[in-house]
Amino acid sequence: MRTIGLIGGMSWESTALYYRIINREVAERLGGLHSARLLLHSVDFEDVVQGQRRGDWDGLGAQLADAAAGLQHAGADCVLIATNTMHRVADAVQAALRVPLLHIADATAAAIKAAGCRRVALLGTRYTMEQPFYAAQLQRHGIDCIVPEDEDRAAVHALIFDELCKGEVAPSARTRLQAIVARQVARGADGVVLGCTELPLALQAADVTVPLFDTTTLHALAAVDFALAGA
Ligand code: GLU
Repeated sequence: MRTIGLIGGMSWESTALYYRIINREVAERLGGLHSARLLLHSVDFEDVVQGQRRGDWDGLGAQLADAAAGLQHAGADCVLIATNTMHRVADAVQAALRVPLLHIADATAAAIKAAGCRRVALLGTRYTMEQPFYAAQLQRHGIDCIVPEDEDRAAVHALIFDELCKGEVAPSARTRLQAIVARQVARGADGVVLGCTELPLALQAADVTVPLFDTTTLHALAAVDFALAGA
């Protein structure tokens, strides 16, 4: 089994999901008491949030590149950045590595294609929805995406940082997201990407009328595929 390197803590609420999904999947596939070989570098999220607010993507890229190099040095055979937003600096992280960086949008695009969707709604932080890096990566796989209108983008961004990243999952979070998804379907979306690793805490496939792409699960399963390839 290969060793998975995870850069997490952004927030730790979603990193805990990765840890659970990866280990459960390895146990499911290998049986017995098997669990993942995994190294975790967990950051102080407040530092990252401050860097995002300042727009210091170069500084954040250097910080995550250092973390990735450390994981590689410790024996990781691949690296994952356990957040969609911080794939803003994926190129800087990959440049610091000889091992592959498993990109969250690549895993997501494969699932979107398999489901036959063509025009998905992207929900995430403002950075993910408003900067080009994420949509461009989906577009490389031939997938178009739309993002919610400004008021809904503000609501999703606030839900992520003010509630979900603090472990607060109010029952109303689901209904707020359902209403936003319904508006995207009315605007022509044939699927919805939970493009923030905390969003699955509040919304699941059964809650919406179109295919839902949970990037946390898809990314974690891509790590397991990598770890067990040839095992
Ligand atoms: N975990 C979130 C994401 O997937 C947001 C936290 C962050 O800003 O990294 O984008």
